[in-house]
Amino acid sequence: MLFLGKRSTTGQGIGLSQLPAMQDSELSWGEVSYRPSGEVTPETEVEITTGRRGCGNPQCASSWTAPWRSRKRPIFEGQWGCGGRCVLEMVRTSMRRESSDGILDAPTQHRHRVPLGLLMHSQGWLTHPQLQKALEIQKERGGRIGEILVAECGVDSDLITRGLGMQWSRPVLSAGGFSPRLMALVAPRPFLAQSGLLPLRVAGSSILYVGFEDRLDASSVLALERMSGLKVESGVVKTGEYEEAKAALLENAAVDLKEEILGDVDAVAARVTAVLEQKQPVASKLVRFHRHYWLRLWLEAKAGGGQGVLPVHAEDVFDYVFTAGRLA
Ligand SMILES: [Zn+2]
Repeated sequence: MLFLGKRSTTGQGIGLSQLPAMQDSELSWGEVSYRPSGEVTPETEVEITTGRRGCGNPQCASSWTAPWRSRKRPIFEGQWGCGGRCVLEMVRTSMRRESSDGILDAPTQHRHRVPLGLLMHSQGWLTHPQLQKALEIQKERGGRIGEILVAECGVDSDLITRGLGMQWSRPVLSAGGFSPRLMALVAPRPFLAQSGLLPLRVAGSSILYVGFEDRLDASSVLALERMSGLKVESGVVKTGEYEEAKAALLENAAVDLKEEILGDVDAVAARVTAVLEQKQPVASKLVRFHRHYWLRLWLEAKAGGGQGVLPVHAEDVFDYVFTAGRLA
């Protein structure tokens, strides 16, 4: 089929030969191999997570080797902060990085794309009268052209999905191998709801496949890539399959979430710092999507938290979604 097989879904041929073969349901712990929490002392946790023991704030004025500086947490984005002021500096640096990433603000939906109906007509998948009729109905009562073509013009829904894949230059993905329990842990519900992104499966331990129904949200793909440390491949999923998988996902528990609305990005930075100081995570990460900042905390080493890690259960992982009133 036209859009399948562009890339192997097994993860072969991408330099993973050194890794043991893994099933989709098995998740990588990155460089950190799983060990029962009893074996992990605070000492090893820091070394595992950061690889070094200096304060993560380059401007840090204090000497972290001083004996009274015995704290080993919080760890934010692989770095240890020696005190609240240094953690705040690290958080601000991270938020500047998230803001300067221009593509996050690119309104993908405004980028020029060939209208779906025209594209399908040019492929010979629609007759001119079919297209005409669908456009008239859409003008009259609105709605999505693809749905109208299926409902009113006798067009096969598989063709709509192929057309959408072509429109977005993305493969058509199936929901095969979908584990609703694991995929429900991938990202917080507001992130999924706003982006329309549906996590589908992890393949070869390093690729996360995600599906969209009719519109691809590039910024959410990038945000998820940074949060998970996995390569995120996106595609279009047939409407029926998408709806079914999404419903199954929503029936499963997500990571505990707290949502907060704050005045501006400075307030977000201060709040993120306060949360890190309070929760003392062994790992944490911050990404931005649209107007929101998603902070994920790993509270115990056994919950994972290195690069390329998705939670396998909701315990010891915590999500925050902060919305900044102003993004200045
Ligand atoms: Zn410091």
